[in-house]
Amino acid sequence: MQECMLESYGNPTAVHEAGRRARVLIEQARRKVSALLGLSPGEVYFASGGTEGVNTLLWACARELQVKHFISSPLEHPAVLKTLESIRTWMGIDLSMVRVDALGHVDLQHLEELLASNPKSVVCLMHANNETGNLLPVNDTAALCKAHGALFFSDTVQTMGKFRMDFSRFPVDLAVGSAHKFHGPKGVGLMVIRDHVRLGPLITGAGQERLMRAGTENLCGIVGLARALEKVHQQMEEDIRHIRSLKDHCMRALEVAIPDVLFNGDARGRSLHSILNVSLTPGVDPQMLLARLDMAGICVSSGRACGSGTIGGSAVLKAMGADPARPALRISFSAANRPDEIDYLAETLKNICL
Ligand code: PLP
Repeated sequence: MQECMLESYGNPTAVHEAGRRARVLIEQARRKVSALLGLSPGEVYFASGGTEGVNTLLWACARELQVKHFISSPLEHPAVLKTLESIRTWMGIDLSMVRVDALGHVDLQHLEELLASNPKSVVCLMHANNETGNLLPVNDTAALCKAHGALFFSDTVQTMGKFRMDFSRFPVDLAVGSAHKFHGPKGVGLMVIRDHVRLGPLITGAGQERLMRAGTENLCGIVGLARALEKVHQQMEEDIRHIRSLKDHCMRALEVAIPDVLFNGDARGRSLHSILNVSLTPGVDPQMLLARLDMAGICVSSGRACGSGTIGGSAVLKAMGADPARPALRISFSAANRPDEIDYLAETLKNICL
């Protein structure tokens, strides 16, 4: 990225030499990303992040595909839920919510019922939940969508770069990713639009990204995104093993430190290795909890990372029926974390809760 800022300052749309050099970097990044994800370069569009990708794709479905119905779940990120609510308000397209169980998994039987009674639907279900880490059974969901002629959009912001994701065998029609979730720069992401889907832009203008996203490209961000995705793929299996062992270690340490701790979601089952959501002792003040953890140098969130300062509790945990009297914490692990940091977290939480 540094090299890119210092030496490749041309505008990628310009035809002069500096511009052409910048254009080559973007297309190299696109080829790198598409090869890592099992896509063709024509299926990858760069954008400013997950939120922009979601808005672009869902509004385009509503405008251009004669969609009659959206089906989603109360566990989705606000980028999806707020966009679907706006589409309902402005375009009158109905929205149904799939039921979720106490573990926080979507009820696929209910999804099938909704699909059967709502032809021409778009299903919007995330691959991994950003608060609990729960994983969607993507193949079963895609099979239901296919059987009922529905389009399947999956928010893959939490999983892109966390697994080897081969879209040639990952049956979703539309997806989004965000570079900062795999140690890339903030403010850059991508949209995946499979070849058989034709959609237009949300942001119109000079026609960059093959008319799908106007505006001068975030060249350094795009180069950084591709490099970050490449780096995580180079050590993916070791990282998954290490991060999974940190999560297991954390669950064991917390069970010893705080005997009444609860794990929200399917923490020991169908769940992402990098996220753990815990409910702590009833009555502990959530704001005080976060403040004391912060003072101890521990960076965790009370809910989703981008809204953890929000008062009022987590809509995801509420939808799963979690006890609101227990303050909840979302703990994220990365390859850079160490077991002694987990012990320090458990010890600090014990001192706060007991
Ligand atoms: N979707 C999920 C599941 C997320 O976790 C996030 C961000 O945390 C987003 C969408 C939004 O992505 P961005 O912050 O890149 O706009």
